[in-house]
Amino acid sequence: MQSRFFSIPRRLLRSRIPRTFQDSIDAFKLSTMTSFRIIAVVMLLCCGVLADETHQRADRPKIIPPTDWGSKPQPIPTTRKQTPKFITIHHAGIVWKAGADPVKTLQSLQAWGQKEKHWPDLPYHFLIAPDGRIFAGRPVDYEPETNTTYKTAGHIGVELFGNFEVQRPSKAQLQSLVNLTAWLAQQYKIPLENIGGHKDRAETACPGRDLYRYFKDGQLKGWIQSVIAGKLPEIDPGPPLKEGPTDAIPVK
Ligand SMILES: [Zn+2]
Repeated sequence: MQSRFFSIPRRLLRSRIPRTFQDSIDAFKLSTMTSFRIIAVVMLLCCGVLADETHQRADRPKIIPPTDWGSKPQPIPTTRKQTPKFITIHHAGIVWKAGADPVKTLQSLQAWGQKEKHWPDLPYHFLIAPDGRIFAGRPVDYEPETNTTYKTAGHIGVELFGNFEVQRPSKAQLQSLVNLTAWLAQQYKIPLENIGGHKDRAETACPGRDLYRYFKDGQLKGWIQSVIAGKLPEIDPGPPLKEGPTDAIPVK
């Protein structure tokens, strides 16, 4: 009895010593690994925050919300929800005349689209007046509308008032376009190569030769890149194109 009584704990002891020792090694390894993991996660988080800080340099430009210009949007079906991946730039294609009111233009464009095209809201997400004011149109998380053929899902539509086949954009309009596009690209992590004109997506003259020139010569991307890098580029529209429009859009 006695030997059995003692033999049991000894067997147990024998079998438990290495297990306990092994357990403590395992526990040590585990705690070391856990510490490394925690350090790695903390480092990654720090790097992420730092990386974000270094890239978040384009300030949000002043954007006039739909409630401030008297927008009357209709509900957009949830099937038209989108994740922004591209920025597509347009002109209105209608000559801007001196004295025209950007707010009335927005309201009539929205009403026309609802009546004639069954578009629940403005076809574009942002619209830029000749004086540089930026108006918010359709919410960015819904795809835009188009009269041409291209897959609109994923596109943020930015329209500038005017017809740049026959008039030139104003300096204020170009400045707002650059500031807005830089901020949108930063906000939605859209690469520069995904910023284009309507012409790059479909068969059209939009956004007009005197705006599209800045896409072709790379100036627009350069200005956008500068804003993302935290600089304030001097935007110079440059001389008119050969055989291009000469008159700048009237600002008032
Ligand atoms: Zn267009």
